[in-house]
Amino acid sequence: MSPTLLSVVVPMYNEEAVLHQLVARLRPVLDGMDVPYEVVAVDDGSSDSTAGMVQQIRTEWPQLRLLRLMRNSGHQAAITAGMTAAVGDYVVTIDADLQDPPETIAEMLKTAQAENVDVVYGVRSDRSTDSVFKRQTAALYYWLMRRVAGPHVPSNAGDFRLMSRRVLDAVNRLPEEGRVYRLIIPWFGFPSANVY
Ligand code: UDP
Ligand code: MG
Repeated sequence: MSPTLLSVVVPMYNEEAVLHQLVARLRPVLDGMDVPYEVVAVDDGSSDSTAGMVQQIRTEWPQLRLLRLMRNSGHQAAITAGMTAAVGDYVVTIDADLQDPPETIAEMLKTAQAENVDVVYGVRSDRSTDSVFKRQTAALYYWLMRRVAGPHVPSNAGDFRLMSRRVLDAVNRLPEEGRVYRLIIPWFGFPSANVY
């Protein structure tokens, strides 16, 4: 069996303030995983120095790729661009702002392989920093989404997830433009697991 290649897609819009912190957290995790990987940084038309900084970091981190969108297109569109460009057998999407812990990526891949599932959701177990209002509206949101998209939509799973190539192929075949991945991926119904 050829070694599994992992892609990590990171949408970035004006993230110059956290970029170095992100690299400091993400790189040791990926270097320590013992799989070949690429990081696809998607600069979503940032007006700050995000793209220039990624270029700079790239000179010392060959696994880092930069994809630049012509104009600001939004979070989901940036993810779409990154997932289309990603060549991995497994693709993880993670926001740049460190709302989700990059350290979990290692566990996501392990879980996908050990349990033979196509999707691993990163579920936020700690919402203690969110306001009561934010937690209640989030609970309502996920309840409503389960009514609309089916019972597979996990609570508190944002856009931090791992997907197999099978899922990527299914996603890339969708005719819809304005995709909301946190609904579409559960709707597919591929075997899945959660990590916290
Ligand atoms: N993002 C993007 N394009 C945008 C807005 C945001 O690529 O137009 C990126 C942003 O850099 C971050 C992720 O998408 O990595 C989530 O953005 P944000 O934290 O603003 O969203 P929230 O956490 O509030 O859902
Ligand atoms: Mg955020």
